[in-house]
Amino acid sequence: MTDRPTLDDLSAGVPFANRHIGLAAVDQAKMLSTLGYASVDALLSAAVPASIWLDEALNLPAAGTEAGVTAELREYAARNRPMAQMIGLGYYDTVTPPVIRRNVLENPSWYTAYTPYQPEISQGRLEALLTFQTMIEDLTGLPIANASLLDESTAAAEAMTLCRRASKAPKEAAFLVDKDVLPQTRAVVGTRADGLGISVVDADLSQGLPDGHFFGVLLQYPGASGVVRDFEAITATAHERGALVAMAADLLGLTLLRSPGETGADIAVGTSQRFGVPLMYGGPHAGYMSVRDGLQRMLPGRLVGVSKDVDGGPAYRLALQTREQHIRREKATSNICTAQVLLAVIAAFYATWHGPEGLRLIAERTHRYAAVLAAGLRAAGFTVVHESFFDTIQVRTPEAARIVAAAADRGINLRLAGDDLIGIACDETTTADRLREVWAAFGVSDVDIEALDTATADGLPEHLLRTSSYLRHDVFHQHRSETSMMRYLRGLAAKDYGLDRGMIPLGSCTMKLNAAAEMEPISWPEFAGIHPFVPPEQARGYAALIDDLETWLAEATGYDAVSLQPNAGAQGELAGLLAIRAYHDANGGTHRDVCLIPSSAHGTNAASAVMAGMKVVVVRCDDDGNVDLDHLRTTLDQHRDDVAALMITYPSTHGVYEATVADVCAAVHDAGGQVYVDGANLNALLGVAKPGRFGGDVSHLNLHKTFCIPHGGGGPGVGPVAAREHLAPYLPGHPIEPRPGADTVGPVAAAPYGSAGILPISWAYLRLMGPDGLRNATGSAVLAANYLARRLSAHYPVLYTGAGGLVAHECILDLRPITKTTGVTVDDVAKRLIDYGFHAPTMSFPVAGTLMVEPTESENLGELDRFVAAMIAIRAEIDRVGAGHWPADDNPLGNAPHTAATLAEDWTHPYDRQRAVFPPGVTAATKYWPPVRRIDGAYGDRNLVCSCPPPEDFA
Ligand SMILES: *Cc1c(COP(=O)(O)O)cnc(C)c1O
Repeated sequence: MTDRPTLDDLSAGVPFANRHIGLAAVDQAKMLSTLGYASVDALLSAAVPASIWLDEALNLPAAGTEAGVTAELREYAARNRPMAQMIGLGYYDTVTPPVIRRNVLENPSWYTAYTPYQPEISQGRLEALLTFQTMIEDLTGLPIANASLLDESTAAAEAMTLCRRASKAPKEAAFLVDKDVLPQTRAVVGTRADGLGISVVDADLSQGLPDGHFFGVLLQYPGASGVVRDFEAITATAHERGALVAMAADLLGLTLLRSPGETGADIAVGTSQRFGVPLMYGGPHAGYMSVRDGLQRMLPGRLVGVSKDVDGGPAYRLALQTREQHIRREKATSNICTAQVLLAVIAAFYATWHGPEGLRLIAERTHRYAAVLAAGLRAAGFTVVHESFFDTIQVRTPEAARIVAAAADRGINLRLAGDDLIGIACDETTTADRLREVWAAFGVSDVDIEALDTATADGLPEHLLRTSSYLRHDVFHQHRSETSMMRYLRGLAAKDYGLDRGMIPLGSCTMKLNAAAEMEPISWPEFAGIHPFVPPEQARGYAALIDDLETWLAEATGYDAVSLQPNAGAQGELAGLLAIRAYHDANGGTHRDVCLIPSSAHGTNAASAVMAGMKVVVVRCDDDGNVDLDHLRTTLDQHRDDVAALMITYPSTHGVYEATVADVCAAVHDAGGQVYVDGANLNALLGVAKPGRFGGDVSHLNLHKTFCIPHGGGGPGVGPVAAREHLAPYLPGHPIEPRPGADTVGPVAAAPYGSAGILPISWAYLRLMGPDGLRNATGSAVLAANYLARRLSAHYPVLYTGAGGLVAHECILDLRPITKTTGVTVDDVAKRLIDYGFHAPTMSFPVAGTLMVEPTESENLGELDRFVAAMIAIRAEIDRVGAGHWPADDNPLGNAPHTAATLAEDWTHPYDRQRAVFPPGVTAATKYWPPVRRIDGAYGDRNLVCSCPPPEDFA
């Protein structure tokens, strides 16, 4: 016997947790000694209240190796069966151009970036989003588009509420939905309408507008059946009767068909999926919305606009930010926060790559295949239902089920649209061989495709053919060669600051590592190529992965059931609140409609409550930032009979573990209310405490924070909702894939499993970390936050702390006293951090005039110390301004960020160039150069421009 390691030991290699967690053991020891704790556990037990402390380890599989976990994922992938997907219904096969897949989808410069709230370091993705908006505006023929929504169906639901706000129709007016709207869209619209008390009327609008009062009308163009109808007359009648018209339109179809704007529509919505974004079993994909002039200030979601920097050069930033809905809390009209930026960027680049001619060619080819397919079936005696279509045809035959099965045997999914009805959708990937296979499934052989092609007319109605041009801007014409495209993408990425450059210490956002091993599976065809409405036997791998993930998340949170459907945190909130309402309804509490929300809460909480039809009552916080228990008790007394829920974030958005959380939950339960624990901050809890155990009835989690799905510059996301047993029956359902027992609450997303395509990322994270790794991650995140708080507290007051003077996973630095005495603002510090090579912490949330810092477990001590040094150096600069050494209107802080171009100007500042661009700790070798100087947001809001500016502006 020797001490030689066994083969097992040798094979284990470096645990993945050591790759994910940036802090080596020696670093942790140094940091602990700074804080005066003997171990991470000692630190945790001092910070976390004993009342919520978890004694047992999480019951999750032990950590796997990267190779082992990849092999397991391969095995799951092999259980999925990618087919030729001709189901349609808003999801189509598409080719992601390899130059975009490799340089964008699989490139951390793009996928690790944050929402562009700091526009000076986000010009690349802002330009891409402006291209997206320009593309949507052009194709839909409407002047203002936003920078993406969550999917087509939620976009339609947002259109409904926009119509309600903009229409002068009487209060009792209903929302009218055409019968050819996509079934999943009808269902999501229904869920939203129920929440808000809006009545929805279904009608066949090819028969004209029914009697009654309507504030809005929803049309599908082309319809779910594939038919292309002329909506001009119906739109005119709707307008005469005081209703707005929203058209859900297919972007590829719009390259050939008259646009919604030209037809008179007020709003266009849809998905950009088929512009190069794989099917992903339903998502993530970027939904879109564009509106006519006059509605732009009511637009939900984010809007990119053109403004200028202090040098007068054009610069992009989010426009009308005060209008950004969730920030308005209970006054919000939408709860969209995380959207689908990465996918919108991909769709925009797809249009950039193909240009208008290329897109038109793809559309014409798609249409011609559909036309020839229809002609072949007609010639064989089959009934093709509609004369006018773009890409989808319907065939009426008593043999429908048998034919769909025969096609499946040939590797093709058709849609069984009724007992005697088959839907077949052509797309970018359709070929002549594919048509032969489809015909064969119908028992049709020996078709002469060439002859049929020559003999068959188009199926597009003459009077609906598009005559207006689109995508005329240079950006859609300049990058036809791959060399040019590659350089264009590189040039944009070079302007941006992502996790591939340095730390992004954004409080409340958890910008941790998105490991390559977690990311790789999402582009495997067995995950990427699955249509969301395939029969279950083709998605067994997904089913297994989803089942694991639901089980593991339930275990990690202490809840009984999990739904992965919500495709952002705020959608999880909505689903959770709808569950609470349905529960009260079923238990004689229909009148309970008050939602208590602490003043410190994230803005989406109040916005979601309003969308669930609840009244928001704000509960105050005390001087320590905790929920004011006395005020809570008085408020509960006032609303004892009508309180539906309390929404509480834990740890609080103030970054502390509130000791009284169990009391807060108990008080709400005593009053007959349910407790919603906002679980977006789970990075401070995993393996340490479970919200489902300390009083929560339901929570949402943000897989794009704690569970490693990258932020993508503002999306995608997954916001699972987790609930205790009594709320489980009220988790979101779906018409296409009904969940047993769930029939009272409809879907909150278009696809049954929302953004299913990115679930392998979180699955891999949990599987790679294991229970010990996850707990270590929590401990390391809390250690890092406390280390920063301690190191910085002498220079910037830390606003709130809990037991032992400790914070949780983030800390708020209070700049207000400093601003008062020196005039230097949080903005100045945030912009100056750019010169030091950092992304600013979260600014002015949840407290105005403060910075909220969240380092996460993924940063190493060197990077934390670099940040500390930068903040201390900035503090010294602030003091120089305060002391009058530098004038208030000409100093390195107020002038930040400094660009390379400023160096070439006449230098008149009272500090030198060295100080400007190479402050302490910054070297020429590692320098990040911002492409623009400070951006004037107000200028852009007064002169709203939301499409690509002419290239001359950049001369
Ligand atoms: C991020 C966050 C949300 C919203 O999540 P989205 O995915 O952006 O909708 C809600 N609550 C808290 C506390 C958050 O940090």
